[in-house]
Amino acid sequence: MPEGHSVHRLARQFTDVFGGERLRVSSPQGRFEAGARLLDGATLVQARAHGKQLFLGFGPAHDDGAVQSVLRVHLGLYGAWSFGGDETFRGASSIGAPRKMGETDTFTDDADASRPYAGPPPPVGQVRVRLVSDRGWADLRGPTACEVITPEEAAAVVARLGPDPLVPGTGPEEFLARVSRRRVALGQLMMDQAVVAGVGNIYRAESLFRQGLNPWLPGRSLNEEAGTALWEDLVTLMRDGVRRGKIITTRPEHRDSLDETGAPAPLWPDNAYYVYQRDGLSCRVCGVQVRVTDMQARKLYWCPGCQSL
Ligand SMILES: [Zn+2]
Repeated sequence: MPEGHSVHRLARQFTDVFGGERLRVSSPQGRFEAGARLLDGATLVQARAHGKQLFLGFGPAHDDGAVQSVLRVHLGLYGAWSFGGDETFRGASSIGAPRKMGETDTFTDDADASRPYAGPPPPVGQVRVRLVSDRGWADLRGPTACEVITPEEAAAVVARLGPDPLVPGTGPEEFLARVSRRRVALGQLMMDQAVVAGVGNIYRAESLFRQGLNPWLPGRSLNEEAGTALWEDLVTLMRDGVRRGKIITTRPEHRDSLDETGAPAPLWPDNAYYVYQRDGLSCRVCGVQVRVTDMQARKLYWCPGCQSL
């Protein structure tokens, strides 16, 4: 499942590619026909993310940017956006599932100035929503949620979510308050979107490791200093994820110097975590075997040597 950094990248890409543009909106697959009719011909005036939720705000053309309708999308496990366009189009060509290891966006540099832009290609597969401007297009496939709501309903969705480390100006206070009220395990709280929005399995495992925190520590036993450090580490890691389009959590001195073929490893590798999907391997820091267990039906990775606090 894409973690919050991917959804914030999507919001940024929609702003860059389609912001201020009047869009043709359709549902080639047919399952979103009624919603598409509501938005067809409107202008994209705002794109924002909170946690794993994407909100595309539409309004009438030539207005003052007021949002009248919001397209809310949650990609879930299988959803993905793909993009393309003319020679002015720049950005990731796809963001979302399916993806094996590293939550890495796909980039292709296929803009060919000698080839005139002939509009979007025929839809391939189950395209729930297609957005088309004069210069580019976006296709959404396989989302968990895709609906047209009012700005008030969008605000209510955000109000039910916990704080998002990627929303500028968000401090640790609300996160600390929500964690300290609970006696369930910290590893479980980190996956609760009402406690912290946008964190998925990779950021959960890696941030707890980096802070030396035991995933079974009850939320209310996390002291303010450790909780603040955990929040700030999430901000750092997730901002880096937005910038690079991939999740990198290891410090350079802890990464393998060679890749699996024996060649020098790239400077910013796709899969260089501390514990995520490293069960059975030696911890990069202490050498103890990394473990995996189920916590609330999701795999939890941790190092018993480093995460004893
Ligand atoms: Zn360790």
